[in-house]
Amino acid sequence: MNPIDIIIKKRDGGTLTPEELQFLVTGYVQGRIPDYQISAFLMAVYFQGMTPMETAAFTRIMRDSGTILDLSDIPGFKVDKHSTGGVGDKVSLILAPLVAAAGLVVPMISGRALAHTGGTLDKLEAIPGFRTNLSIAETNAQLQDIGVALIGQTAELCPADKKIYALRDATGTVHAIPLITASILSKKLAEGIDALVLDVKAGRGAIFREKEKAWELARMLVSTAKQFNLNTVAVITSMDQPLGNAVGNWLETREAIETLKGNGPADLLEITLTLGAHMLVLGGAAENVPAGKALLQKKISDGSAFEKFLQIVEKQGGDVSVIENPAGYPAAKHVMEIKNPESGFVAEINPREIGIISMALGAGRNAVTDPVDYTSGIMLNKKVGEQVAAGEVLAVVYSNQKERLEKNKTRLQKAFQISDHKVDSPLIHGILDTAHY
Ligand code: URA
Repeated sequence: MNPIDIIIKKRDGGTLTPEELQFLVTGYVQGRIPDYQISAFLMAVYFQGMTPMETAAFTRIMRDSGTILDLSDIPGFKVDKHSTGGVGDKVSLILAPLVAAAGLVVPMISGRALAHTGGTLDKLEAIPGFRTNLSIAETNAQLQDIGVALIGQTAELCPADKKIYALRDATGTVHAIPLITASILSKKLAEGIDALVLDVKAGRGAIFREKEKAWELARMLVSTAKQFNLNTVAVITSMDQPLGNAVGNWLETREAIETLKGNGPADLLEITLTLGAHMLVLGGAAENVPAGKALLQKKISDGSAFEKFLQIVEKQGGDVSVIENPAGYPAAKHVMEIKNPESGFVAEINPREIGIISMALGAGRNAVTDPVDYTSGIMLNKKVGEQVAAGEVLAVVYSNQKERLEKNKTRLQKAFQISDHKVDSPLIHGILDTAHY
């Protein structure tokens, strides 16, 4: 076999065999095939797509490029959630302890901030001492003990995805549905879980702005997961404004703590309960979604979800006193208010802009190795549909570098659109599960 023939076959719209895909992926991971040939292959896939069979084969090859976790010694039903990424999305921090408090095992593997979206690992590491780099043995022991672990991807898990994702990022080939599907599912299949819930976001702050593309991605994810007998539900949700009110690492962790204590914003709570209820139904811990939501509400109101979060923080070396007393966390040095120029209703809060500005304030990074500033970010005082008077505060902005506040002021003001009438912002567009295939 030779890489050029395979690239040409895909470029001309052909269907690759599992052997050809294996040849490319293994050759790339082992350093025999160079970046430029895999880049050409990825671009060919971007334009020509892949059949469902090719997508499944590609997913399997990526999964098998590294270790597959064996959780069979851990009693209980193992379930995870994955989001395709959005702004203000701190759902994982709430969902993992919440679903574990309701009796399922949650081995949650998350990522870091890159581009305009934040990363769960950075939000967790805003807690002093919190370790996300648990070994496989430590993760297993923690799952045995408290039924939940919040960790990062280890070097052993899907090394092919790590290498190919970095190349996609640098070659404009991230937005290819078969490549996204294989990237997400290979990692989730390597976790050794029994079921999966996906939050597929659609809107201006999401991987796909158009709802139809998000549905297409959801269909490909769920139908591919079915080929691996992984029971999967995809919830297609809106990313047309940031989720919740907080954007920025510690600000989001604090909002997650408030939500676990029953004081979270309505949209964040609704998305969390919906995803969590589907996890419970898949795991047999609830008969249907309304019953699942009710059980999760109870786990918040009786304090057991928050208690579970405290256990996670303690087990993973974090400073529990910070979670018990978030007000004691050091604040960013500089604060600025963004005021509303005219009375009306908030019609739009551009999530991509809010994400980019939050990163520019210090909350994000340009390269995976850059440090992040945990206390910088944005608190939204108003959400889409809310009425605002002239002069009212729309958002409060935090940074440790004063000049960054001033530099981003006008851009932040422009991220808000005010209208003379109330605009609706639906939160959940639809649900898809393996029974559809
Ligand atoms: N998340 C992933 O893990 N991979 C993608 O390709 C896109 C989103």
